[in-house]
Amino acid sequence: MYHGGLIAGLSGPRPYMNSANDLRFDVLVAGGGPAGSTVAALLARKGLKVKLVERDRHPRFHIGESLLPMNRPIFERLGVLEKVEAIGKRKLGADFQSASVKGYGTFLFSRSLRPTAPYAWQVRRDQFDEMLFRHAAEQGVDAEEGAHVQNVRFDELGVSAELRSENGGTEVIRSRYFVDASGRDTLLGSQLKLKRKHPEHQSAALFAHFRNAMHRPGDDAGNISIYRFAQGWIWMIPLPDGLMSVGAVCWPEYLKQRRGRGVEFLLETLSSVPDVADRLRDAEVEGNFHVTGNYSYACNPIAGRRWLLTGDAIAFVDPIFSTGVYLAMDSAEQAAEVVAQSLRDPRAEARLQKRYGRRLQAGLQRFSWFIYRFTSPAMAQMFSSPRNFLQVEEAVISMLAGDVFRDQGVRWRLFVFRMLYRITRLGMLGKERAAAAFRRRQIRESFSGGTTSQDHV
Ligand SMILES: Cc1cc2nc3c(=O)[nH]c(=O)nc-3n(C[C@H](O)[C@H](O)[C@H](O)COP(=O)(O)OP(=O)(O)OC[C@H]3O[C@@H](n4cnc5c(N)ncnc54)[C@H](O)[C@@H]3O)c2cc1C
Repeated sequence: MYHGGLIAGLSGPRPYMNSANDLRFDVLVAGGGPAGSTVAALLARKGLKVKLVERDRHPRFHIGESLLPMNRPIFERLGVLEKVEAIGKRKLGADFQSASVKGYGTFLFSRSLRPTAPYAWQVRRDQFDEMLFRHAAEQGVDAEEGAHVQNVRFDELGVSAELRSENGGTEVIRSRYFVDASGRDTLLGSQLKLKRKHPEHQSAALFAHFRNAMHRPGDDAGNISIYRFAQGWIWMIPLPDGLMSVGAVCWPEYLKQRRGRGVEFLLETLSSVPDVADRLRDAEVEGNFHVTGNYSYACNPIAGRRWLLTGDAIAFVDPIFSTGVYLAMDSAEQAAEVVAQSLRDPRAEARLQKRYGRRLQAGLQRFSWFIYRFTSPAMAQMFSSPRNFLQVEEAVISMLAGDVFRDQGVRWRLFVFRMLYRITRLGMLGKERAAAAFRRRQIRESFSGGTTSQDHV
């Protein structure tokens, strides 16, 4: 994901020098999503004076409702496990369409290699993000909503950033360190031109909440269900209050057929997959229909003198394995250590940031290998009729649970899986070539045309 060096020197546009006495905060964090609230809370707990600024007001809608079991130790360390239990629906596994079993096959998290937690949660992000933001305030963070961080500047003494409030007023905040947790807005990524889009992984997502959608029976009731279709993939995420989040991630070429249509186009897309249509037979949309770009990108570098990026502000990969919130909170935990230690000992900063970057890169690469092959014919066959050899299936479930940073016998088994994938692919080269040619055609056409952009309709 990353290219070249990860760390920059003293950077930013014009210096904005003031006296050291102006440094009102130790750390300014831009963005009050999971990454921002986590890093802010952990830094405040270390005794630092932290300002957390969120552009919107909680509770606010956000996509990314399916969590992973590896989130659990982070919730415990942060002290929010009970709060998550109170608002989340238990998710015991992920299910995929199956070629060998009628209907679907479930990958149960309890079957991971040395599982950390046998389940995760599905959450409404308005509730989850608000809970994390308020929790940060309870830890002593000065948490402000309805203010936009802009024009971040670095000088030898510290960092300055403008806060623009909803009524248009601006104020300059000075701090010793700056953490960008602005998510896909990539505040510093855009300001410092660090962001590179991944040309082969450009798609968009259409989604809505549905009432009266059919849930899976028994223990599978909390599963995320994933369906492939010719133009992308579909998710069904059962939420705590009986709602079902349903969305389609579609290739750009297909989206051109939308021609301004909104929820009807989503319904038409969903009804093209018979199993999904069946589960939505008696369902109706509740609330807004949303459409958003789903473009993969990575920033490089991801840290420099007195600043670092965390969560989606670093990189975004297709959300098919629900990795976003976990990676955001994991990187935020690591970021809190880097920032606290760097403030104590500035000479250690570059080394700590380097380690931060390397670890993240390794985790992202482990996920992205699977993510970007997931819709290929060979991977579809392997996921729909899994064969267990040397506990490779358990290792894949560990990866699906988010276990990509520890080595619990997962890594070598994932290597075996990659070998098996290559063999399977050789056996179905005709199908693979046709699928690759189809995708290349779509990418070419989308780059000569363009697709949808942001937000809800
Ligand atoms: C279609 C789709 C489906 C997804 N599904 C899943 C899923 O099922 N599971 C999962 O784990 N992940 C999923 N994700 C990914 C998930 O949404 C993100 O990875 C996660 O929200 C990242 O957290 P974050 O804190 O880094 O960023 P965010 O949650 O985006 O938070 C960033 C915050 O910063 C604020 N902000 C932005 N700019 C500024 C500024 N200048 N000043 C102040 N505040 C600012 C924003 O308002 C926002 O609240 C999905 C993503 C997409 C696009």
